[in-house]
Amino acid sequence: MEGYMVSARKYRPMTFDTVVGQGALTTTLKKSIQTGHLAHAYLFCGPRGVGKTTCARIFAKIINCMSPTADGEACGVCESCMAFNEQRSLNIYELDAASNNGVEEIKKLIEQTRIPPQVGKYKVFIIDEVHMLSNQAFNAFLKTLEEPPHYVVFILATTEKHKLLPTILSRCQIYDFNRMTVKDTVAHLQQVAEKEGITAEPEALAVIAEKADGGMRDALSIFDQVAAYCDGNITYKQTIANLNVLDYDYYFKLVDYFLEQKIPDIIATYNEIVNKGFEGSHFIAGLNAHLRNLLMCRDQKTTQLLDTNDDVRQRYYEQAQKCKPQFLYSAIRKCTDCDINYKLSQNKRLLVEITLIEVAQLTQDDGVSAGRRPAKRLKPLFNRAAVKTSVAAAPAVVSAKPAAAGATVAAQQPQPVINVEAKFDQENLTRAIKLYSQTLPQGGMRVHLFNCVPNIVGDHAFEITVDNPAIEAQLRQYVPPLTKYVKNILKMQALDVKIKVVSFTPKTVLTKAQLYAKMKEKNPALAILEKEMQLHV
Ligand SMILES: [Zn+2]
Repeated sequence: MEGYMVSARKYRPMTFDTVVGQGALTTTLKKSIQTGHLAHAYLFCGPRGVGKTTCARIFAKIINCMSPTADGEACGVCESCMAFNEQRSLNIYELDAASNNGVEEIKKLIEQTRIPPQVGKYKVFIIDEVHMLSNQAFNAFLKTLEEPPHYVVFILATTEKHKLLPTILSRCQIYDFNRMTVKDTVAHLQQVAEKEGITAEPEALAVIAEKADGGMRDALSIFDQVAAYCDGNITYKQTIANLNVLDYDYYFKLVDYFLEQKIPDIIATYNEIVNKGFEGSHFIAGLNAHLRNLLMCRDQKTTQLLDTNDDVRQRYYEQAQKCKPQFLYSAIRKCTDCDINYKLSQNKRLLVEITLIEVAQLTQDDGVSAGRRPAKRLKPLFNRAAVKTSVAAAPAVVSAKPAAAGATVAAQQPQPVINVEAKFDQENLTRAIKLYSQTLPQGGMRVHLFNCVPNIVGDHAFEITVDNPAIEAQLRQYVPPLTKYVKNILKMQALDVKIKVVSFTPKTVLTKAQLYAKMKEKNPALAILEKEMQLHV
């Protein structure tokens, strides 16, 4: 079987032309090489995963190439290029300052600069995350950075330019890398998918690109994750399920309901979203982003500012034409209030529901005064049909601090209680833990919790099994936030999270005599029997 290689490595660009989304920058670099205007120190700045180290390696390869092509790329076949391709070139030296930030490492690097290259013309020293170097290391480095041997080129890379001392900045030619746009990322993922023989819906790739937030390396690793889950055919539905992203269809649907003032439908839709395990604050933030996108799409000119694919942009444009700007302003204001008050609210769900109702009420007046009318003008909120579908029971608890002026009036009316599926069973619990895991930084615990199968051991307790004490110790730290999170999602008053360590010690095999001794220990009557019957065992 062919070894599996993650896409971020397999499709790492080998030439400037294949670097995605940094066109202007790679062109400038190429020109400076072609004209022989090399600086002795470069600083590559920009967010993670946008190609800084990749460009540094390509750069090192080109300036050492024995017969560069006419358009300034490396030939890929000369002795030096081969050495680069096979990662055995002695002309490139990489130091990751995030993990090697001491003065010793820098001294080793400086020693290396004293030895001229054997093959090729330049020795290139790449220092990644250069802002992490200790002060002592910086000081040791400064002199060499200022006057390196003529065959040395330094390429410093950083995600945090502002942390660098002016003495460093002033010695380098600075290149700022862009975040990737969704469009560029989608186009690249599409190519990777084709090479891998995977079909992918553009909407699905757009979701991946948005999730990666401007980093290609992240986009590719999310792509790998989704591809494995989708089994060769990446669909939008499967992607949002796998990445736990709320389907933007919900937002389109809700805005249509707002415009038609279909309040029961709005509440029912929100209920569906809550039942899928999405948190109210995420939902409101998403709705706010949707409304902002609509505002952008009121005009064809600003529609281009929307960083998404063309089909989705067209949908935004069409919906935007139905919304008056005043409605969008006021709706965004209400959602922003809700977002701010969310943390403080005692009854978060009610807060969101009231906000949604208020937004729908905005459209009942003519657009010009929408949002400024006093709340007493509110229409009856629910018709009979809506009440019938709800579970009668107790009225919802009214928060001590209503979010907005209008909330008071609405809250005084008896609130129909929506049937909440947030219950403590295997399925909901597993889903809640998975959701929690996605709030953690990338790493072992995130993966561990995502894949864990909890065991319900009581009305308000569950157990997570781990197979060694080291993981147990790590997991313990996550128990308080995990408990809080799960309690919140499943609407539980109390919850006890236990960790069980199961060690896989092999079973000892007992001899017959040992087995008998054990049985005797358990059942003393055997000893008596043995004596009475004068058995010889
Ligand atoms: Zn070459």
